[in-house]
Amino acid sequence: MNTADMLVKERRARMAAERLLELKQAELCQANRKLSSHARHLSDEIVEKREETEALKEETAHVRTELETANYAVLIAERRLWDSVETIRDGFAVFDPEGVMVAANSAYLAPFDGLEAVGPGITYEEMLKLGMSEGMFDIGEVPAAEWITGMVRRMQSAKIPQVTVRLWNGMSIRLMDQRSRDGDMVSLALNITDTIRREAKLKDARRRAEAANRAKSAFLANMSHEIRTPMNGVVGMAELLADTELDEEQGLFVETIKSSGEALLELINDVLDYSKIEADKLVLRPSVFDLEHIIHEISVLLQPTLAQKNLDLLIDYDMFTPTHFVADPVRVRQVLTNLIGNAIKFTSEGHVLVRVVALPEGEDEDRRRVHVTVEDTGIGIPANMAEHIFGEFNQVEDERNRKFEGTGLGLAITKRIITLMDGKIWVDSEVGKGSAFGFYLMLPVGESDKPEPAQMPEWLGRVIVADDNVINRRIVDKQLAVQNLTVVQCRTGQEVLDLTPGPQDVVLADHRLPDMSGTGVAKTLREAGYAGGFVLFSNTTTIPAESRAHITACLQKPPRRRELFAALSGLDPPTNQLLPQATAPNPPTPQDTPPEPAEPRRMRILAAEDNKTNRLVFGKLVKTLTIDLTFATNGREAVEAFETLQPDLIFMDISMPEVDGKEATRQIRAIEADRDLPHTTIVALTAHAMSGDDDAILAAGLDHYLTKPLKKALIFARIEAETPKDCLPVFPDEVLSKMASG
Ligand code: ADP
Repeated sequence: MNTADMLVKERRARMAAERLLELKQAELCQANRKLSSHARHLSDEIVEKREETEALKEETAHVRTELETANYAVLIAERRLWDSVETIRDGFAVFDPEGVMVAANSAYLAPFDGLEAVGPGITYEEMLKLGMSEGMFDIGEVPAAEWITGMVRRMQSAKIPQVTVRLWNGMSIRLMDQRSRDGDMVSLALNITDTIRREAKLKDARRRAEAANRAKSAFLANMSHEIRTPMNGVVGMAELLADTELDEEQGLFVETIKSSGEALLELINDVLDYSKIEADKLVLRPSVFDLEHIIHEISVLLQPTLAQKNLDLLIDYDMFTPTHFVADPVRVRQVLTNLIGNAIKFTSEGHVLVRVVALPEGEDEDRRRVHVTVEDTGIGIPANMAEHIFGEFNQVEDERNRKFEGTGLGLAITKRIITLMDGKIWVDSEVGKGSAFGFYLMLPVGESDKPEPAQMPEWLGRVIVADDNVINRRIVDKQLAVQNLTVVQCRTGQEVLDLTPGPQDVVLADHRLPDMSGTGVAKTLREAGYAGGFVLFSNTTTIPAESRAHITACLQKPPRRRELFAALSGLDPPTNQLLPQATAPNPPTPQDTPPEPAEPRRMRILAAEDNKTNRLVFGKLVKTLTIDLTFATNGREAVEAFETLQPDLIFMDISMPEVDGKEATRQIRAIEADRDLPHTTIVALTAHAMSGDDDAILAAGLDHYLTKPLKKALIFARIEAETPKDCLPVFPDEVLSKMASG
């Protein structure tokens, strides 16, 4: 190889080496660039991480502070909670689901004082056992083991029942334990010792109060009987004395004795009723009753007062209102008597009007809203007193009122009774003009209430109504208008005479007309040849024989709808004109005329009464009557007398020794049924002011009852109603005329 070649080769080698160098340098450069970029990135990352770490550090510090604050708050809360739990006087403890005590306040642990082991960590069972061994629990006769097992089992139940535990020192602890959501048992131990003692005291006080109240009621009941029996003697004897020859002063004395006695009895009744309502002893005894009849009975009772005050009592019993309803008749009567009695008491002139109307109540055909209003034309009540008077012992205190006696209990009792019957009572009044007391009761219609089939005679032309009281005329007019009768109203007797009634007319006349008496009108008409019907409205149904001859029928005032229609529908047709009779039927019942008059005899009356004074009073009351009166002094004698005498009517005292009136009546009814005897009317005479007795009386088979002191008018009315047709007239004429004059 030559030098040139060698040089070329060397140059080539150098050039290759240089190219390689260049390449390596380029690679190095590249690597350097990459390295520096990586280094830059790394440094960036480091900066970032450092920043992040810083932030994290800050946050950690913050969280730590917050945690510390939270921990502190928890600690405070826990301390407060326990401080609070500590302050409550009742025991509080928490047991975990295994029954290990977690915590308890001092009150809970107090009974275990001295037992170091009782505290957090002890089980419920161990705690009970320890307590039991120390004699802490007063468990009576129950064996200790049994008691502890029971308590532990109770504690394990899902819904822990409450239990009262007695401690040795007489303390009573009520354990009100509850299971929490995580199974713990939270136990609350209430110290109910005081409550229990208080309760025991209250129970004892209540028992004693009830016993005292019962004693009071029994005392009142006895007192009522004890007072009423002698008062019956006093009032009855005063009544008899009043019938004897007395000078003016003596008459006044006797009248005062009588009215004071009656006032005293009324007062006793009020006090009795009120105390009965107060003691919640008033039980309603609903039964079917005749509302119209009750109102009329009350009106009969009040007739003497009405006559004395020259007042009219008018009854407007709506034509379309049923008569029979279901309610407690005793209480309905009491309410009506109170309201009507007050209306009469506080009215010196004018009238008292009782209106009854029943409105249908919804869809129910068998129930009615019965509205009763008692209106008077009396002294009235100031508006600001309208509520006051319904309170106990409340009366209107003013000049006009002072002269009226009373307890102020009547309306309080009335309101209570109406409220008890789910009704409502109110009053509208104007001083000096009068008052209207109204009440309503929702009452079922009594089953026996059939529409009245009032068939008026075809031939009947005019009905002439004579009454000076315009309301009374209107009531009768209204009642007859629905029967399509032509009614002519007259105010005086002369107006009737001026109409010259013909055979197709009928006259309905009040006994007391301004210019003449009703019987006077009848007499004049008869003398003038009038032979049509003449119906007299009178305060008494007993008319002297000579006047009776002129009238067809006499109706007790105010007349009942049914009686009025019966009197009209029973009239003889004009072709067979009515002739004056010696004894007109009353109300007329054509079949009454006996075919063959039997040998007249005296009416037989049996009176059973154990009290001698009462027998004396009764005997004197009926002394003037043509009757055979026999007395029995107890129920046994009454039954014997019934068998031997076959009386027409029996008056039966209820409370008698040996066999009482109810039992005697039961026996008499049994004898009647046994021997197929006709029913003998038995009238109870009761001295019991405690109302509610009458139901039992009627249930025993008695037909009516009269409350002592006996009222002559009521006894006479009963005797008159029961007089058999074949008996001699019972009432002498002078008695009849006295009764007729009211
Ligand atoms: P008493 O009539 O026994 O006083 P009440 O409770 O029946 O008791 O009546 C309370 C009062 O209401 C009566 O005292 C009287 O002032 C007044 N009062 C009741 N009814 C009437 C009436 N119809 N007219 C005027 N005042 C009446």
